[in-house]
Amino acid sequence: MALDAAPPGTGAEGLSAYPPEETWDHVESLDPAAWPKRVRRTHRLVPTTCFNCEANCGLLAWVDKETGLITKFEGNPVHPASRGRNCAKGPATINQVQDPERILHPMKRVGERGEGLWERITWDQALDEIGTRIGNAFREERHHEVMYHVGRMGDDTYMERVLHSWGIDGHNSHTNICSSGARMGYASWMGFDRPSADFANAKVIFLISSHLEAGHYFNPHAQRIIEGQQNGATVICIDPRLSNTASKADHWFSAWPGTEAFLLLAIARLLIRDGTWDAAFFERWVNWETFLTESRPDLDPVFANVGPALLELYAEYTPEAAARICGIDEDRLRTVARTIGEGLGGFASHTWRASSAGNEGGWMVARCLQLLTVLTGSVGTVGGTNANGWNKFIPVTPLHPEPQGRWNEMQWPIEYPLSHHEMSILLPHFLKAGRGYLDTYFTRVYNPLWTNPDGFTWMEVLRDTDKIGCHVALTPTWNESAWFADYVLPMGIASERHDVASFETHNGRWIGFRQPVARRHRELNGETIERTHEANPGEVWEEQEFFIDLSWRIDPDGSLGIRSQFESIQDPGKPLTLDEYYSMLFENSVPGLPEEAEALGITPLEYMRRKGSFSLPGDQTQVYERDVPAADLEGAVRDAKGVWRRPGTAGSHESLEEIRGHMPFIGDGSPAVDINGEPKFGFPTPSRKLEFFSETIRDWGWPEYSMPTFIRSQVHWEDLDMSAGERILVPTFRVPTLIHTRSSNSQWLNEISHRHPLWLHPGDAEELGIEENGLVRITTRIGHFVIQAWRTEGIRPGVVAASHHMGRWRLEDDKARSWGTGKASIEQDGDGRWKLQREQGVEAYESDDPDTGLIWWTDTGVHQNLTFPVQPDPVSGMHCWLQRVTVSPAEPGDAYGDVVVDTGASHRIFEEWLAKARPGPGPDGLRRPLWFARPVKPKATAYRYDG
Ligand code: SF4
Repeated sequence: MALDAAPPGTGAEGLSAYPPEETWDHVESLDPAAWPKRVRRTHRLVPTTCFNCEANCGLLAWVDKETGLITKFEGNPVHPASRGRNCAKGPATINQVQDPERILHPMKRVGERGEGLWERITWDQALDEIGTRIGNAFREERHHEVMYHVGRMGDDTYMERVLHSWGIDGHNSHTNICSSGARMGYASWMGFDRPSADFANAKVIFLISSHLEAGHYFNPHAQRIIEGQQNGATVICIDPRLSNTASKADHWFSAWPGTEAFLLLAIARLLIRDGTWDAAFFERWVNWETFLTESRPDLDPVFANVGPALLELYAEYTPEAAARICGIDEDRLRTVARTIGEGLGGFASHTWRASSAGNEGGWMVARCLQLLTVLTGSVGTVGGTNANGWNKFIPVTPLHPEPQGRWNEMQWPIEYPLSHHEMSILLPHFLKAGRGYLDTYFTRVYNPLWTNPDGFTWMEVLRDTDKIGCHVALTPTWNESAWFADYVLPMGIASERHDVASFETHNGRWIGFRQPVARRHRELNGETIERTHEANPGEVWEEQEFFIDLSWRIDPDGSLGIRSQFESIQDPGKPLTLDEYYSMLFENSVPGLPEEAEALGITPLEYMRRKGSFSLPGDQTQVYERDVPAADLEGAVRDAKGVWRRPGTAGSHESLEEIRGHMPFIGDGSPAVDINGEPKFGFPTPSRKLEFFSETIRDWGWPEYSMPTFIRSQVHWEDLDMSAGERILVPTFRVPTLIHTRSSNSQWLNEISHRHPLWLHPGDAEELGIEENGLVRITTRIGHFVIQAWRTEGIRPGVVAASHHMGRWRLEDDKARSWGTGKASIEQDGDGRWKLQREQGVEAYESDDPDTGLIWWTDTGVHQNLTFPVQPDPVSGMHCWLQRVTVSPAEPGDAYGDVVVDTGASHRIFEEWLAKARPGPGPDGLRRPLWFARPVKPKATAYRYDG
C-alpha cells in the first residue's frame, strides 16, 4: 500500500489500492516486517507481466531501492486486461524469485543420463558445445534432427523468427494436450482457432470450460464474467463437476462427459424450431448455399429452405433425446433455449479444454457451440463472441527472415493432415518406431514426462541416447524431464526476461511487455548491463538473448546465413541487442504506440518499459463487415461464389501478417467477399464466410463431419459396464491456485492447495465399497494408480475426477523438493512394468529460507498422467484425456501414490489409435490445407507431399 494517496473520506487514511502511476519511480511505504515499528522504505515499481499462465496479466514489481531486491508483486492498474487484479499465482511470483531450490547456474550432466550427476559450467561453454552441435547438423543437412519443444511460450513471435532463421521445421508445442480440439472446432467455422467472448456486455454467458472461468486461466475473463452477471447476464455452465464456475451459474448442466455436442444441437434445434434465431445474419454470413447444394440437392438453393433443412438435419436432437443421452433435465434445457433465444446478439460463449480436450470428437463440441453463437447472430458483436485474432494483437517481428521450406514429419505426420497443432504426444512413439532421431532436443518451460500422458514412454526415450542425442532443458526449475537432460540451463521467470504477448480478454486489443526487473532498475540507476544474466539472480538468463548468442555460435563465420539475422543494425558485426530489437518492434509494428509515446516525449520502447502494456486504438466489433476499398481488389477476380481471388498467388506469403503462422491466411490471396454487391472483409476461410458446411473437412477425408454433429466419445456412458466398476475419469481440471508444474516452487500456492483427492459421488462410493477418505485403485488400459477418495455430491454419479496439477516427484533427496514434490523411486517389475512409489511426501527442511523449516503439509498428490495411454483424436489430433477406468478399493500392498504402467501396452494402444486416422495427402497432393493456421508456417512448397 502506498502512503498518503487515498482519496479523502475513504476511511483508509494514508492507504490506496495502487500508488499513482506518476509516483512509481519513488514510492514510500511502511515495512510490514518491521511492525510494530513504523519503518519507512522506498521502492521503485517496475512493470512486467505474469508468466504463470498465458493470460499475461500485468504485474508491478516492487524493487527496494536500498537493496535492489524485489520485495513483492502486485497488479498493474494500467494494464488494460487485468486492470490491477490478479489471481493468487500473480503475486506468488515472489516465491518463485526467492525459491531456495531454483536453478541458478548452467549445469551439464557428468554421469549416465538420468543418473543425477551434474557439474556447473559457464554460459560460454554451454553456448559453444550446443552451438557447434547444431551447426554441424545444419551443415550435414540434418535439419530435422533439431527440435524446440515449448510448454509456456511467453512471447508470441520471437521463436518463430529464430526457427525460420535456422531454416528448420523444428517447432513443437504442448497444444495437443491442451487445446487442439477446441481450435479445430473454431477454425473449421471461421479460420481463427479461438473464441474471444465479450463477457462484460453479454446477455447470456455460456461456458463449457473447466479452467478458464474458475480463475485458473484468464483472471481477466473471470472478472468480466462476474461483471456481466452483475449487469444481468444469465450464466449457463456445462460441467460434470460442481466447479467454481458451475457454483456461480444460473443454470448448471452436469451432462454425461462427451455428450455436450448433443446438448448444444438440441438447443440449436429449439432456436430454429421456435424462430428465435437470427436468420438474417445466417443468410448474410453463413455459406448456406453450399450447405443446400452439397447436402440437399433435392431442394432449391434458396434461403427459405435453410430453416426446414436444418430442422430435418437435427430432427433427432429433441429435448427428450438430449435428456436421455446427456442425462439432463429437459425442462431446464427448454428454459435455457428460451433464454438464449431472447438474448440474440449477446451470446458470449467459450469452450477450451474440458470436453473438447477430453473426448474423441471433442472438437465437435466447439463446432456445435460456435453454431449457437452463429444462430444467435453474436459473432463479433458487443456482448457476443469475436474471433481471437480480432482481439489478440500480434505485432509483425522486425527483421523477419524468409519462411523456412522444410516439413518435419515428426511433428506433422501425414496421418493427421488436419491436426491443430503438432502431434506432440506421439513423439516418443515415433522415436520408438524408428521414424526419426533427434540430435538436439530443447525442452523449454516444458516437462513432458510429467505433463503429457504416458510419461514412462517419455522417460524411456529421454534416457536413450540412441534416440535423443542431446537434451537441453531450458527451465527455471528442476523437473522430472530436466532430470533426463544433458544440459539444464536456467531461464528467467516473470521478472527476469523480455517477452511481448497479447491475449483475447475483452472487446479491444492490447499488447503487454514483460521485462527483466532488476536489469531495468539497475539501468535506471545508470549501470550498463550487456546481458540479462548479469542482473538476474545467479546466472539466470532469458531465451531471447540466449538464442541470439546461440545463433552466433551455430554460424560463427556467417556461412549458413543464420548469423546475419542476429546482427546489430546499428553496430554491424556485433550481436543484436534486445533494446534495438524491441525499439524496432514498438516503433514500426504497434499502431498508435509511437504517437502516444511522442505525446509523452518518450520513445515507444520507453513507454512500454514504464507502463508494461499498451491498449491499441480502434473498434474490433464485427470486423468482417468492413468495406474493402477498390484499390485492395486490384488484380482480383470475383468468382461464382462471390469471393474475390487473385489468380496465381496460391499459398504465397506476400503478407507478413500471413507469414506469422499463428494467424490464418488465405492461401489464394483472397481479399474480400461480395455481400449484397459490396466487397466485405469477411472471414479467413475458403468461402470467406462462416462455414457451416466445411468442404475442407469433407475433401480431407471426413465427409460425415462436414457439418456440426455429435460424435460418440471413447468414454460414452452407454458403453461402460458400471456393474463391473467401470466409470469415467475426468482428469482435465485444476484448482485456480496451481500451475502445471512450476507451482511446486511456490510456497504460498502450496500452502493454499496441496491435495487432489478423487471426486466420487456417495452413491458410487457405496456401490463400489469405497470408504470416506479410503484408498482407491484406478485401473486404466495400461496400468493403475492409487489415490484417496473424497465423497461429494458435487459430481455426477458414474463419473470420478482428479485434478491434474499434483503428483510431482523427485528422485533425489536434496534436489527439486521445494514446496510440493515428493521423494519417489522408480523400478521395473519382473513383467517389465514401471512402478513409481512414493517414499515420502514433502517435509520441512533446512535452507537459506527459514520458511522451509515450517512446512506442515505432506501430501504431494498422485502422478495419474503416467497411467494414461496416448489417445489422439483422428481429426484434430487432440489427446483425448478422459479415461474409461475401473474404480475399486485399494488392494493389499497398494500404497497412496503408487503408479504402475506397462509401456508395451501403451505402444499397442498408440498403434490402435493411429489406425483410426485417415492419412493425407489431401486435394492437390498437399499435406495440409494451405489456409489452416500452423506455427512457424513453412513456404507453400513444403506442403507438397512427395512420399
Ligand atoms: S490469471 Fe493469474 S496466473 Fe494467469 S497471468 Fe493472470 S495473475 Fe498470472
